[in-house]
Amino acid sequence: MEFIRDYADWFYLIGAVLFILTLRGLSGPKTAITGNRYGMLAMGIAVVTTFFVAENPVVWMILAAMAAGAVVGIARARTVPMTQMPETVALMHSLVGLAAVLIAIAAIIHNNKLIAIGPDLLAANGVNFHQMSSVHLFELFVGCFVGAITFTASVFAYGKLAAKKWAKTIAGAWVKPVQALIFIAMLICGFTFFTTGSMPAFWAMTALALIFGWVWIAPVGGGDMPVVVSLLNSFSGWAAAGIGFTLENNMLIVAGSLVGSSGAILSYIMCKAMNRSIINVLFGGAMGGVAVANADAGEKVQRNYRSGSADDAGFLMSNADSVVIVPGYGMAQGRAQNAVKELANLLKEQGVTVRFAIHPVAGRMPGHMNVLLAEADVPYEDILEMDEINSDFPATDVVLVIGANDVVNPAAKDDPSSPIYGMPILEAHKARITMVIKRSMATGYAGLDNDLFYNDKTMMVFGDAKKVVEDMTKAINGTGH
Ligand code: NDP
Repeated sequence: MEFIRDYADWFYLIGAVLFILTLRGLSGPKTAITGNRYGMLAMGIAVVTTFFVAENPVVWMILAAMAAGAVVGIARARTVPMTQMPETVALMHSLVGLAAVLIAIAAIIHNNKLIAIGPDLLAANGVNFHQMSSVHLFELFVGCFVGAITFTASVFAYGKLAAKKWAKTIAGAWVKPVQALIFIAMLICGFTFFTTGSMPAFWAMTALALIFGWVWIAPVGGGDMPVVVSLLNSFSGWAAAGIGFTLENNMLIVAGSLVGSSGAILSYIMCKAMNRSIINVLFGGAMGGVAVANADAGEKVQRNYRSGSADDAGFLMSNADSVVIVPGYGMAQGRAQNAVKELANLLKEQGVTVRFAIHPVAGRMPGHMNVLLAEADVPYEDILEMDEINSDFPATDVVLVIGANDVVNPAAKDDPSSPIYGMPILEAHKARITMVIKRSMATGYAGLDNDLFYNDKTMMVFGDAKKVVEDMTKAINGTGH
């Protein structure tokens, strides 16, 4: 025990290096599992070391909280379907935010109690007490308000992604002024607390930060939620780092900063993939909300489209030289990845060149499609990112779109009035033939109609992704009807 306490900084240093190796490992599919293992080891070292470093810990409380957390975590990890990962991640960020707020509150209450007892009396009883410096108060203030915003914003993001009724997108001319007012009031209260140590100001700041988190994210529409989730990831890291300063815990500072900066980088990459600025995403109004409003407001014009059977599609693909498969949220929803892999293998056996094209925001979380295809053992070299494959579409015989919609919507390129105008897309419409598997003509996540479906060169194949793909495989195998 003494040993761990004496060498705590060394253990924290080892933990920090392992966390850096974790991020490095997670940067590629081949090294991701090793990266995860480093992360688990680093977290284990951090938790055990902190346990022994703490002054007079209430052991039963810590163990009870850890046991409860472990039970909930294991149960959730075992049961959560892949499609619900994004909202689960959002919910986890909310807990980091809440923890930061609670730690800040506890630190302040503890500090005030000690001040009330008086430094002299404490010293006489052997308690070493230093009044919080202004830097400490500032760290608390930052950790608490970033944590509070992260908490409510993440709860909203969870509700939005899980399509809960209470997570309603808000819109209107009043939103921005109200956001600004709450933000300014929050800063004034924070500043008052920082300069005077006033507790009412601290409570008011925390309450306003909680409200701000909600009204800040509520106008952001569905289409922009991926960026928001990744940004909240970053925020939860900064909140943890802020609290790390308060608790003088180096591990928390390093781990929080790593999460904060990696989340910020990911948000930047995603914004670039959608051709939007982060300011535009967060304060530019509701992209998804506008889209849904437009789709609902417009009169439903009957448009013609072609549809075909899985057999027709199988025939076309087996006679093609090159096929590009574009997976989207529907592949995840229909758990079709293994069936898709079987289809790809069969086509390859018949001499067809088969590749997969991945859009950075396909699905409902960053890397969603890559994870599913890796799970199905699709070779990494067959999986191409948007920039790598877009120029190949015009020379491609058949593009098979499986449950994707927004990420292949040509309006993003051609229609300046479209809410997704400017977002880079997979240019599936440029292929010789495009086939789209989905269950109906319903819109995708952004709530927009898709011209690709009405294109002369497009054939819709209706049905559940897994069933249709299996039927295509049977048709190519000649074991169909
Ligand atoms: P979309 O949500 O645009 O479209 C998915 C399509 O799949 C739907 O049109 C649906 O049509 C179809 N579908 C659903 N279930 C099935 C099924 N079982 N079988 C066959 N088809 C099915 O998905 P995309 O991947 O194209 O685009 C992702 C969207 O999600 C983007 O707008 C993105 O911004 C957003 N988003 C992305 C996140 C990320 O981090 N990647 C996170 C949150 C949102 P039908 O109902 O007719 O079957």
